[in-house]
Amino acid sequence: MLYVQSGYVRQSLHRRRQSYLKNCLDTGQAQLLFIFDRKVGVVRSENGFDIALFGPDRVPRDRREMLQAVFLGELDGTPVFSIACEEHPRNLLGLGCQPPLFVELRQATGMLAAESASLLGYALAMDHWHRSHRFCGACGSLTASGESGHMRICTNPDCERKHFPRTDPAIIVLVANNDACLLGRKREWPDRRYSTIAGFVEPGETPEQAVQREVFEETGIHVANIKYFASQPWPFPGSLMLGYHAGALSETIKLHDDELQDARWYTRDEILDWVPSGRLLLPSQISIAYSLLEEWFNRDDVPPLREIDKQGQHRAPITQL
Ligand SMILES: [Zn+2]
Repeated sequence: MLYVQSGYVRQSLHRRRQSYLKNCLDTGQAQLLFIFDRKVGVVRSENGFDIALFGPDRVPRDRREMLQAVFLGELDGTPVFSIACEEHPRNLLGLGCQPPLFVELRQATGMLAAESASLLGYALAMDHWHRSHRFCGACGSLTASGESGHMRICTNPDCERKHFPRTDPAIIVLVANNDACLLGRKREWPDRRYSTIAGFVEPGETPEQAVQREVFEETGIHVANIKYFASQPWPFPGSLMLGYHAGALSETIKLHDDELQDARWYTRDEILDWVPSGRLLLPSQISIAYSLLEEWFNRDDVPPLREIDKQGQHRAPITQL
């Protein structure tokens, strides 16, 4: 499960220090990573990719103050900022500086160290929030970035409302019924790919209530005995996945809403046969959906899920929700 291993310290108390960002950029005691066109800047490494990090002195002094910088925290004691670029940073970086390669994080995650994927996921989620909160939700005026990129304030002097980064909680649940688990598929997914049931938590609702509602809406199954498993930030674009196990109270599947194209019960024996043959494609191994499946599936008398999955000829693309 990725995006949960943080090798950095957020140092959130530094965000309100007015001169902090300016000092870091002026003295060069910082590292910058770049985001452009919703893609993250990387460099090729022996095993795949590393984050492309640059000292602020790589950016001409007269352009440093224009940077839309978000203070992410400290990596091995060095402050790290993400820079959102409106144009390719080849024009921003000084001469002789090799610009980063921009890749979709979701596609590149398997080629990054776990800690790097977490930091880039954090940066990408912050970038999404900035881009989608350029205007004040109260009065419609432009907003401006503050607190080292962790707040946006309305520029209308009669409003000045502060807006803070948000995360959308979503539940994801493995529903078990004796020796079978409930999996569903969306129309847009590759053929034969199935995953656990997921959906957003609504206002005024607990995650456990969301589990009951979503499973019933999507599959017609009633559930009980809902137990928290783990959580995973999912920065595509800004969710927090709350993982649960639940037990089924009914067996007959009925697709009430249009969320799923199909849902069905899969027994352990079917998974043992169909995953290696490619008849059933499981979710990505980096996702909490996979961890939920593993936790349910793995028992002393069956080979581990990852082992039988390895035998499968096809891999599902990295998607969730
Ligand atoms: Zn406003």
